Amino acid sequence: LVSRDFHPESTAVQVGSAVFGADHPPVIIAGPCSIETEEQMLEGARIVKQAGADMLRGGAFKPRTGPHSFQGLGIEGLKLLRAAGDASGLPVVTEVMRIEQLPAICEHADMLQVGARNMQNFDLLKEVGKTGFPVLLKRGMSATLEEFLAAAEYIVAEGNNKVVLCERGIRTFEKATRNTLDLSVVPLIKQMSHLPIIVDPSHATGKRFLVPIMGKAALVAGADGLMVEVHPDPAKALCDGAQSLTGEDFTRLMAELESLKAVL
Ligand code: PEP
Ligand code: MN
Repeated sequence: LVSRDFHPESTAVQVGSAVFGADHPPVIIAGPCSIETEEQMLEGARIVKQAGADMLRGGAFKPRTGPHSFQGLGIEGLKLLRAAGDASGLPVVTEVMRIEQLPAICEHADMLQVGARNMQNFDLLKEVGKTGFPVLLKRGMSATLEEFLAAAEYIVAEGNNKVVLCERGIRTFEKATRNTLDLSVVPLIKQMSHLPIIVDPSHATGKRFLVPIMGKAALVAGADGLMVEVHPDPAKALCDGAQSLTGEDFTRLMAELESLKAVL
């Protein structure tokens, strides 16, 4: 179902005013790693909207490596995300970790994110498919391209072809970056599948200074968009501050992407 052999035309996935894939201009999703406070979300949304982002991100249910790290605001966070999306006019995406969270997330979000750690949570994929909501499916940190596409197949097999893939870096022996950005999967996936693919240079690198350059490289490689972490005050972020862009960094990146789009 996800293969181009049986479906040669590229699929466009629409989320509110944003359209991924099928030669539409790249969709830029931006916002904080985690939803922290009303003020942080409203300010984060204002910053990314003003810089020209197409969608707002923010995690309410966070898959943290350790149990003592901030786990997210849960339903309270979903409400803050929705309010920030409405205030800025941006569609919102947030991660679902468990099937039981789906009703609340579907009530507040425009797109469901399945994170790297859940890419092979097959029961979750099936239920996410059944909602009919657009899905942002992130590549598992040790998933092969074939496994990545098989995970997407689970969602599409439920009659939901609104799947956007997201390369977010994979585990390798390299420790200089948080993960290793596997940019070649962008053209490979475009060859093998009709689904859109975007790149998350934030989780792929873990380092703020690498985010803009690798984001630009992703668009050159043909990505249908980017997901970038932006925080009004990264030094105070409860999660992923080291890879979060400031409003100023993000505004500069968006201007650079505009010049880049003109030559792509
Ligand atoms: C995220 O985007 O919030 C996230 C947790 O990323 P990943 O699942 O790619 O680690
Ligand atoms: Mn993060």
